[in-house]
Amino acid sequence: MADVQQARIEPHISPPRRPRAQTACIELDRFCTDCGYNLRTRPVHLDDRTGIPIVLCPECGRFQSANDASTTLRPWLDKATSVMIVAWIIILVLILMNLAIAEGALSYGTLDELTIHGGSTTQRIGNTITRTWSSGWGPLEVKTDVPDYKLFLITIILCSFAIAFAFGMFVVVAFPHWRRMACAAIVIITPALVGGIIALTWWKEAPHLFTWGLVYIAAHTAAQIIGGVGGITIGRPLARLLVRILLPPGIRPRLAYLWLTDGKPLPSPR
Ligand SMILES: [Zn+2]
Repeated sequence: MADVQQARIEPHISPPRRPRAQTACIELDRFCTDCGYNLRTRPVHLDDRTGIPIVLCPECGRFQSANDASTTLRPWLDKATSVMIVAWIIILVLILMNLAIAEGALSYGTLDELTIHGGSTTQRIGNTITRTWSSGWGPLEVKTDVPDYKLFLITIILCSFAIAFAFGMFVVVAFPHWRRMACAAIVIITPALVGGIIALTWWKEAPHLFTWGLVYIAAHTAAQIIGGVGGITIGRPLARLLVRILLPPGIRPRLAYLWLTDGKPLPSPR
């Protein structure tokens, strides 16, 4: 009786025998079916008894199949993946474009806020200034009565820095495969290009105030380049910190690339 019991239990408790030599390693995000640990970079071995490729989870110590290409759902997943990759690329491009547009809007908005069309009569009631144009808009003039000029300027330049920082951080988080030089190029070239477009627009709109406006455009461009370089420098460490603070441990392995890209050990799912 004892022998029968032994025979029944043994297949469940004995782990696979020592696997043969490593054949490959997991190159994509694969999650331990038991504890959720990301098995990416873990070595794959062929099981001696069955010949099935297996992988050992270092977190919970369980063996599991390294092959996930055998379910009926798989072909459908592959099709859905292609569609989602295209959608993902469109979203990434749209985000980058919007951030670049925001950089330009801040630069142009500053010039717009600091100038006014000539030919107006001004009425001041308390802190509110009302302007009326009786005989059409004259050429643009620099406003002489901007309330809190310094505060406005500091705030809007800081906004430029912050938007560009977000741009840089987005680049290193969304495109972890890009080289550092490519990231640097995009966060420098984008504000330079945007600054150029705004300068050209301003030159068309107010050629007599071109050099005056250029100072503000240059200040924004400089703040945006510094912000962008800051974003690509500390973007990923900051993203890791945010993931640790904001996401429960079980979800962290899904974002393992944030650690792997910088050669850091994978976050524990517990
Ligand atoms: Zn596990």
